[in-house]
Amino acid sequence: MYTIAIDGPSGSGKTTTAKALARKLGWGYLDTGAMYRAVAVGCMEAGIYDPEGIAEYCRTMEVEISTDPDHPAIIVAGHDISEAIRAPETSAWVSKVSTNPECRINLVQRQKDIIASSNMVAEGRDITTVVAADAEVRILLTADAEARMSRRGAELGGKVDEAGLRDQVLRRDRDDSTLVNFTVAADGVVTINSTLMTLDEVVDQILSLAEHAGIPVQ
Ligand code: C5P
Repeated sequence: MYTIAIDGPSGSGKTTTAKALARKLGWGYLDTGAMYRAVAVGCMEAGIYDPEGIAEYCRTMEVEISTDPDHPAIIVAGHDISEAIRAPETSAWVSKVSTNPECRINLVQRQKDIIASSNMVAEGRDITTVVAADAEVRILLTADAEARMSRRGAELGGKVDEAGLRDQVLRRDRDDSTLVNFTVAADGVVTINSTLMTLDEVVDQILSLAEHAGIPVQ
């Protein structure tokens, strides 16, 4: 199985890039952030806010995640929560899940199992370093803070003001980076700064790295 691993901060373009690559290659696409968000939604719905409760919820959670880049979906205990995971409350709260060490161990194992099952483009914060440190291609996708905030603002349909965007992008990255380093590339990880690049340019650069790594790229 082949893996392309992409890490980076919020708004760096990981999701769009990873989906476009998966479509081009005919591979699966794994949104690991959706799994952290799913735990956040489940805990908020169940009123679980303490670290031990969050870890226990994570251990016993039944989760199914679609790896089809055109039909992303996440289902927890039979309920489709694909919309709830994108709600602003979820974005505001998800760092409580991602900074819970037991939760990380559990979700990382689930993600490793999914990646082992087929060719996959996986995106997140610790894919190049922990989840798929042996991936054929490992990318740290970055962009300047201003560009990241304006991209996230556009994704949210211009409905969030500057303070809200700062919270969703800069504050969240600061909280997230307490357990995982996704601002400096680890050895062997290629940094791509997408601030002045188009999506096609980023995708083409990663495809050429894939080709160099011996992955068949049509
Ligand atoms: O990528 P996305 O913004 O959907 O991720 C949601 C949250 O999940 C991040 O803010 C981060 O706290 C967490 N996350 C993580 N490790 C990953 C993917 C996401 O800690 N591999």
